Amino acid sequence: MSILTTSPAAVRARSAALDGWQAELRAAIRDPRRLCEALGLPLELAHAAGTSAAAAEFPLFVPASFLRRIEPGNPHDPLLRQVWPGPEEASPSPGFVLDPTADARYAVAPGLLKKYAGRALMVLTGACAVHCRYCFRRHFPYDETPATEAAWNVALQAIEADASIREVILSGGDPLTVTDPRLARLAARLAAISHVERLRVHTRLPVMIPSRVTAALADWLSGTRLTPVMVIHANHARELDAEVAAALQRLRTAGVQMLNQAVLLRGVNDTVEAQEQLSLRLVALGVTPYYLHQLDRVRGAAHFEVPIDQGRTLLAELRRRLPGYAVPQYVQEQPGALHKVVLS
Ligand code: SF4
Repeated sequence: MSILTTSPAAVRARSAALDGWQAELRAAIRDPRRLCEALGLPLELAHAAGTSAAAAEFPLFVPASFLRRIEPGNPHDPLLRQVWPGPEEASPSPGFVLDPTADARYAVAPGLLKKYAGRALMVLTGACAVHCRYCFRRHFPYDETPATEAAWNVALQAIEADASIREVILSGGDPLTVTDPRLARLAARLAAISHVERLRVHTRLPVMIPSRVTAALADWLSGTRLTPVMVIHANHARELDAEVAAALQRLRTAGVQMLNQAVLLRGVNDTVEAQEQLSLRLVALGVTPYYLHQLDRVRGAAHFEVPIDQGRTLLAELRRRLPGYAVPQYVQEQPGALHKVVLS
Protein backbone atom coordinates (compact mmCIF):
# COMPACT_ATOMS: atom_id res chain seq x y z
CA MET A 1 0.00 0.00 0.00
CA SER A 2 1.33 3.42 -0.91
CA ILE A 3 2.38 5.69 1.91
CA LEU A 4 0.05 8.31 0.44
CA THR A 5 -3.07 6.22 1.08
CA THR A 6 -2.17 5.61 4.72
CA SER A 7 -1.15 9.15 5.62
CA PRO A 8 -3.08 10.80 8.46
CA ALA A 9 -4.56 13.24 5.96
CA ALA A 10 -5.84 10.39 3.80
CA VAL A 11 -7.34 8.64 6.82
CA ARG A 12 -8.98 11.87 7.91
CA ALA A 13 -10.32 12.46 4.41
CA ARG A 14 -11.71 8.94 4.24
CA SER A 15 -13.42 9.15 7.61
CA ALA A 16 -14.75 12.61 6.71
CA ALA A 17 -16.30 11.09 3.60
CA LEU A 18 -17.81 8.26 5.61
CA ASP A 19 -19.08 10.62 8.24
CA GLY A 20 -20.27 13.45 5.96
CA TRP A 21 -23.88 13.64 7.06
CA GLN A 22 -22.94 13.50 10.74
CA ALA A 23 -20.38 16.26 10.23
CA GLU A 24 -23.08 18.34 8.55
CA LEU A 25 -25.44 17.76 11.46
CA ARG A 26 -22.75 18.86 13.90
CA ALA A 27 -22.02 21.99 11.83
CA ALA A 28 -25.67 23.08 11.49
CA ILE A 29 -26.40 26.75 12.12
CA ARG A 30 -27.95 27.29 15.56
CA ASP A 31 -27.65 31.05 15.93
CA PRO A 32 -30.15 33.48 14.29
CA ARG A 33 -27.39 36.02 13.83
CA ARG A 34 -25.24 33.56 11.91
CA LEU A 35 -28.19 32.63 9.73
CA CYS A 36 -28.76 36.31 8.90
CA GLU A 37 -25.09 36.69 7.98
CA ALA A 38 -25.14 33.58 5.82
CA LEU A 39 -28.21 34.78 3.93
CA GLY A 40 -27.34 38.46 3.68
CA LEU A 41 -30.31 39.45 5.83
CA PRO A 42 -30.37 42.52 8.12
CA LEU A 43 -28.99 41.62 11.54
CA GLU A 44 -31.92 43.53 13.09
CA LEU A 45 -34.04 40.48 12.28
CA ALA A 46 -31.99 38.42 14.70
CA HIS A 47 -32.32 41.11 17.34
CA ALA A 48 -36.10 41.58 16.97
CA ALA A 49 -37.98 41.35 20.23
CA GLY A 50 -39.16 37.78 20.65
CA THR A 51 -36.72 36.11 18.26
CA SER A 52 -34.23 35.14 20.93
CA ALA A 53 -37.07 34.03 23.22
CA ALA A 54 -38.47 31.82 20.45
CA ALA A 55 -35.00 30.40 19.76
CA ALA A 56 -34.48 29.77 23.47
CA GLU A 57 -37.69 27.77 23.69
CA PHE A 58 -37.08 25.78 20.49
CA PRO A 59 -33.59 26.39 19.11
CA LEU A 60 -32.89 27.32 15.53
CA PHE A 61 -31.27 24.42 13.66
CA VAL A 62 -30.49 24.61 9.93
CA PRO A 63 -28.02 22.35 8.06
CA ALA A 64 -25.84 23.78 5.28
CA SER A 65 -27.43 21.80 2.48
CA PHE A 66 -30.86 23.25 3.26
CA LEU A 67 -29.36 26.72 3.73
CA ARG A 68 -28.13 26.59 0.11
CA ARG A 69 -31.73 26.28 -1.07
CA ILE A 70 -32.94 29.41 0.78
CA GLU A 71 -32.99 32.53 -1.38
CA PRO A 72 -30.37 34.99 -0.05
CA GLY A 73 -31.65 38.40 0.97
CA ASN A 74 -35.32 37.35 1.04
CA PRO A 75 -36.79 37.44 4.56
CA HIS A 76 -40.07 36.01 3.16
CA ASP A 77 -38.54 32.98 1.48
CA PRO A 78 -40.88 30.00 2.06
CA LEU A 79 -37.99 27.75 3.10
CA LEU A 80 -36.65 30.30 5.56
CA ARG A 81 -40.11 30.79 7.06
CA GLN A 82 -40.18 27.11 8.07
CA VAL A 83 -37.05 27.46 10.21
CA TRP A 84 -36.94 31.08 11.39
CA PRO A 85 -37.80 31.61 15.09
CA GLY A 86 -40.15 34.56 14.73
CA PRO A 87 -41.49 36.78 17.51
CA GLU A 88 -45.05 35.75 16.51
CA GLU A 89 -44.40 32.39 18.21
CA ALA A 90 -45.04 34.11 21.53
CA SER A 91 -48.41 35.62 20.45
CA PRO A 92 -51.39 34.46 22.50
CA SER A 93 -53.08 31.61 20.63
CA PRO A 94 -56.06 30.07 22.41
CA GLY A 95 -56.51 26.42 21.47
CA PHE A 96 -52.84 25.90 20.65
CA VAL A 97 -51.40 23.45 23.16
CA LEU A 98 -48.25 21.56 24.10
CA ASP A 99 -49.40 18.12 22.86
CA PRO A 100 -51.96 18.74 20.09
CA THR A 101 -52.11 15.11 18.93
CA ALA A 102 -52.37 13.72 22.48
CA ASP A 103 -49.28 11.55 21.99
CA ALA A 104 -49.07 11.02 25.75
CA ARG A 105 -52.45 9.27 25.72
CA TYR A 106 -51.23 6.63 23.28
CA ALA A 107 -47.94 5.62 24.93
CA VAL A 108 -48.07 1.86 25.55
CA ALA A 109 -44.42 1.55 26.59
CA PRO A 110 -41.51 3.99 26.93
CA GLY A 111 -40.87 5.27 23.39
CA LEU A 112 -43.78 3.32 21.85
CA LEU A 113 -47.11 4.83 20.76
CA LYS A 114 -50.06 2.78 19.52
CA LYS A 115 -52.68 5.01 18.00
CA TYR A 116 -54.16 3.21 15.00
CA ALA A 117 -55.06 -0.44 14.35
CA GLY A 118 -52.21 -2.67 13.25
CA ARG A 119 -49.51 -0.04 13.63
CA ALA A 120 -47.13 1.04 16.37
CA LEU A 121 -44.75 3.97 16.35
CA MET A 122 -41.30 3.94 17.94
CA VAL A 123 -39.91 7.31 18.99
CA LEU A 124 -36.20 6.52 18.61
CA THR A 125 -34.67 9.90 19.28
CA GLY A 126 -35.40 13.57 19.81
CA ALA A 127 -32.72 14.65 17.33
CA CYS A 128 -33.63 16.14 13.95
CA ALA A 129 -31.76 17.48 10.94
CA VAL A 130 -33.72 20.72 11.08
CA HIS A 131 -36.05 22.41 13.54
CA CYS A 132 -39.39 23.09 11.83
CA ARG A 133 -41.13 25.87 13.70
CA TYR A 134 -44.56 24.29 13.18
CA CYS A 135 -43.51 20.85 14.50
CA PHE A 136 -46.32 19.18 16.45
CA ARG A 137 -43.70 17.55 18.67
CA ARG A 138 -41.77 20.74 19.43
CA HIS A 139 -42.70 20.36 23.12
CA PHE A 140 -42.42 16.54 23.24
CA PRO A 141 -40.68 15.24 26.39
CA TYR A 142 -37.76 13.70 24.50
CA ASP A 143 -35.73 13.58 27.72
CA GLU A 144 -37.93 10.66 28.74
CA THR A 145 -37.49 8.84 25.40
CA PRO A 146 -35.37 5.67 25.37
CA ALA A 147 -32.47 6.47 23.04
CA THR A 148 -30.17 3.46 23.36
CA GLU A 149 -30.47 -0.03 21.92
CA ALA A 150 -30.79 -1.49 25.39
CA ALA A 151 -33.54 0.99 26.23
CA TRP A 152 -35.48 0.01 23.08
CA ASN A 153 -35.91 -3.50 24.53
CA VAL A 154 -39.09 -2.60 26.41
CA ALA A 155 -40.74 -1.29 23.23
CA LEU A 156 -39.58 -4.34 21.26
CA GLN A 157 -41.01 -6.65 23.90
CA ALA A 158 -44.34 -4.80 23.72
CA ILE A 159 -44.38 -5.18 19.92
CA GLU A 160 -43.57 -8.88 20.24
CA ALA A 161 -46.37 -9.36 22.75
CA ASP A 162 -49.02 -7.71 20.53
CA ALA A 163 -49.77 -9.87 17.49
CA SER A 164 -52.07 -7.18 16.06
CA ILE A 165 -49.04 -5.02 15.16
CA ARG A 166 -48.26 -5.57 11.46
CA GLU A 167 -46.39 -2.36 10.83
CA VAL A 168 -43.76 -0.55 12.88
CA ILE A 169 -43.13 3.13 12.18
CA LEU A 170 -39.73 4.54 13.10
CA SER A 171 -40.17 8.14 14.14
CA GLY A 172 -38.76 10.80 16.42
CA GLY A 173 -37.37 13.42 16.17
CA ASP A 174 -35.89 11.96 13.02
CA PRO A 175 -35.00 8.25 13.15
CA LEU A 176 -32.35 8.65 10.44
CA THR A 177 -30.22 10.69 12.84
CA VAL A 178 -29.48 7.25 14.34
CA THR A 179 -26.50 5.55 12.68
CA ASP A 180 -26.95 2.77 10.14
CA PRO A 181 -25.35 -0.01 12.22
CA ARG A 182 -27.82 0.67 15.04
CA LEU A 183 -30.77 0.94 12.66
CA ALA A 184 -29.74 -2.25 10.85
CA ARG A 185 -29.66 -4.11 14.18
CA LEU A 186 -33.06 -2.69 15.11
CA ALA A 187 -34.52 -3.72 11.72
CA ALA A 188 -33.14 -7.22 12.25
CA ARG A 189 -34.78 -7.44 15.67
CA LEU A 190 -38.12 -6.28 14.25
CA ALA A 191 -37.82 -8.73 11.35
CA ALA A 192 -37.39 -11.52 13.89
CA ILE A 193 -40.92 -10.81 15.20
CA SER A 194 -43.06 -12.98 12.93
CA HIS A 195 -46.24 -10.84 12.93
CA VAL A 196 -44.44 -7.65 11.85
CA GLU A 197 -44.67 -7.27 8.05
CA ARG A 198 -43.82 -3.67 7.23
CA LEU A 199 -41.24 -1.15 8.37
CA ARG A 200 -42.07 2.48 7.80
CA VAL A 201 -39.56 5.30 8.30
CA HIS A 202 -40.80 8.86 8.85
CA THR A 203 -37.94 11.16 8.04
CA ARG A 204 -37.00 14.61 6.77
CA LEU A 205 -33.29 13.75 6.49
CA PRO A 206 -33.13 12.77 2.78
CA VAL A 207 -34.56 16.23 2.05
CA MET A 208 -32.50 18.16 4.60
CA ILE A 209 -29.14 16.37 4.22
CA PRO A 210 -29.32 14.17 1.11
CA SER A 211 -25.88 12.66 1.80
CA ARG A 212 -27.64 10.79 4.64
CA VAL A 213 -28.83 8.33 2.00
CA THR A 214 -25.69 6.21 2.24
CA ALA A 215 -24.97 2.83 0.70
CA ALA A 216 -25.30 1.37 4.21
CA LEU A 217 -28.81 2.82 4.57
CA ALA A 218 -29.87 1.42 1.20
CA ASP A 219 -28.33 -1.95 2.16
CA TRP A 220 -30.24 -2.48 5.39
CA LEU A 221 -33.49 -1.18 3.94
CA SER A 222 -33.27 -3.50 0.94
CA GLY A 223 -31.91 -6.40 2.99
CA THR A 224 -34.71 -6.70 5.55
CA ARG A 225 -37.52 -9.20 5.04
CA LEU A 226 -39.93 -6.42 6.07
CA THR A 227 -41.53 -4.30 3.32
CA PRO A 228 -39.75 -0.93 3.52
CA VAL A 229 -41.78 2.24 3.18
CA MET A 230 -40.31 5.71 3.62
CA VAL A 231 -42.39 8.81 4.23
CA ILE A 232 -40.33 11.90 3.57
CA HIS A 233 -41.43 15.43 4.46
CA ALA A 234 -41.15 18.23 1.90
CA ASN A 235 -43.43 21.26 1.95
CA HIS A 236 -42.23 23.17 -1.08
CA ALA A 237 -40.93 22.21 -4.52
CA ARG A 238 -37.73 24.20 -3.97
CA GLU A 239 -36.73 21.81 -1.20
CA LEU A 240 -36.33 19.09 -3.83
CA ASP A 241 -33.13 20.05 -5.67
CA ALA A 242 -30.82 17.83 -7.75
CA GLU A 243 -28.99 16.39 -4.72
CA VAL A 244 -32.25 15.41 -3.08
CA ALA A 245 -33.44 13.92 -6.38
CA ALA A 246 -30.32 11.72 -6.51
CA ALA A 247 -30.82 10.62 -2.90
CA LEU A 248 -34.45 9.69 -3.57
CA GLN A 249 -33.37 7.76 -6.65
CA ARG A 250 -30.94 5.72 -4.50
CA LEU A 251 -33.81 4.83 -2.17
CA ARG A 252 -36.09 3.84 -5.05
CA THR A 253 -33.32 1.71 -6.53
CA ALA A 254 -33.10 -0.04 -3.15
CA GLY A 255 -36.78 -0.98 -3.52
CA VAL A 256 -38.17 1.44 -0.95
CA GLN A 257 -41.72 2.66 -1.52
CA MET A 258 -41.54 6.45 -1.34
CA LEU A 259 -44.31 8.73 -0.05
CA ASN A 260 -44.35 12.39 0.97
CA GLN A 261 -46.25 14.17 3.68
CA ALA A 262 -46.49 17.93 3.81
CA VAL A 263 -48.12 20.40 6.17
CA LEU A 264 -50.33 23.19 4.83
CA LEU A 265 -48.50 26.31 6.04
CA ARG A 266 -49.44 29.95 5.70
CA GLY A 267 -46.75 31.85 3.80
CA VAL A 268 -45.04 28.64 2.70
CA ASN A 269 -47.32 26.54 0.48
CA ASP A 270 -50.84 27.97 0.88
CA THR A 271 -51.41 28.65 -2.83
CA VAL A 272 -52.62 26.33 -5.57
CA GLU A 273 -49.45 27.06 -7.54
CA ALA A 274 -47.17 26.08 -4.66
CA GLN A 275 -49.08 22.83 -4.08
CA GLU A 276 -49.19 22.06 -7.79
CA GLN A 277 -45.44 22.54 -8.18
CA LEU A 278 -44.76 20.41 -5.10
CA SER A 279 -46.93 17.55 -6.36
CA LEU A 280 -45.48 17.65 -9.87
CA ARG A 281 -41.92 17.68 -8.56
CA LEU A 282 -42.62 14.75 -6.23
CA VAL A 283 -44.21 12.72 -9.01
CA ALA A 284 -41.25 13.47 -11.29
CA LEU A 285 -38.96 12.08 -8.58
CA GLY A 286 -41.03 8.92 -8.11
CA VAL A 287 -42.51 9.98 -4.76
CA THR A 288 -46.27 9.77 -4.19
CA PRO A 289 -47.81 12.91 -2.64
CA TYR A 290 -49.47 11.07 0.22
CA TYR A 291 -50.77 13.49 2.83
CA LEU A 292 -51.25 17.22 3.13
CA HIS A 293 -51.78 17.78 6.85
CA GLN A 294 -53.88 20.48 8.38
CA LEU A 295 -51.59 22.13 10.93
CA ASP A 296 -51.64 20.47 14.34
CA ARG A 297 -52.46 23.23 16.80
CA VAL A 298 -49.21 23.26 18.72
CA ARG A 299 -48.30 26.20 20.91
CA GLY A 300 -46.06 28.65 19.04
CA ALA A 301 -47.27 27.77 15.53
CA ALA A 302 -50.58 29.64 15.24
CA HIS A 303 -49.20 32.02 12.59
CA PHE A 304 -48.84 29.06 10.21
CA GLU A 305 -52.49 28.05 10.36
CA VAL A 306 -54.59 28.07 7.17
CA PRO A 307 -58.39 27.85 7.67
CA ILE A 308 -59.78 24.44 6.68
CA ASP A 309 -62.24 26.00 4.20
CA GLN A 310 -59.35 27.63 2.40
CA GLY A 311 -57.51 24.29 2.34
CA ARG A 312 -60.57 22.57 0.85
CA THR A 313 -60.87 25.23 -1.88
CA LEU A 314 -57.19 24.80 -2.66
CA LEU A 315 -57.54 21.00 -2.93
CA ALA A 316 -60.60 21.33 -5.19
CA GLU A 317 -58.59 23.44 -7.62
CA LEU A 318 -55.62 21.07 -7.36
CA ARG A 319 -57.95 18.21 -8.36
CA ARG A 320 -59.01 20.14 -11.45
CA ARG A 321 -55.39 20.59 -12.50
CA LEU A 322 -53.68 17.28 -11.69
CA PRO A 323 -54.20 13.54 -12.15
CA GLY A 324 -55.61 11.85 -9.06
CA TYR A 325 -52.35 10.15 -8.07
CA ALA A 326 -50.69 13.59 -7.85
CA VAL A 327 -53.22 15.01 -5.37
CA PRO A 328 -52.48 14.32 -1.70
CA GLN A 329 -55.20 13.51 0.79
CA TYR A 330 -55.92 16.58 2.90
CA VAL A 331 -56.06 15.18 6.43
CA GLN A 332 -56.24 16.20 10.05
CA GLU A 333 -55.18 14.30 13.12
CA GLN A 334 -57.97 14.39 15.72
CA PRO A 335 -57.17 12.87 19.12
CA GLY A 336 -59.48 9.93 19.77
CA ALA A 337 -60.27 9.29 16.08
CA LEU A 338 -59.51 5.77 14.83
CA HIS A 339 -57.71 7.13 11.76
CA LYS A 340 -56.68 10.44 10.26
CA VAL A 341 -59.75 12.44 9.31
CA VAL A 342 -59.94 13.19 5.60
CA LEU A 343 -60.90 16.84 5.05
CA SER A 344 -60.86 16.68 1.25
S1 SF4 B 1 -37.99 17.12 11.15
FE1 SF4 B 1 -40.03 16.37 11.76
S2 SF4 B 1 -39.84 15.91 13.97
FE2 SF4 B 1 -38.09 17.21 13.39
S3 SF4 B 1 -38.72 19.32 13.81
FE3 SF4 B 1 -39.22 18.91 11.65
S4 SF4 B 1 -41.34 18.19 11.69
FE4 SF4 B 1 -40.55 18.03 13.78
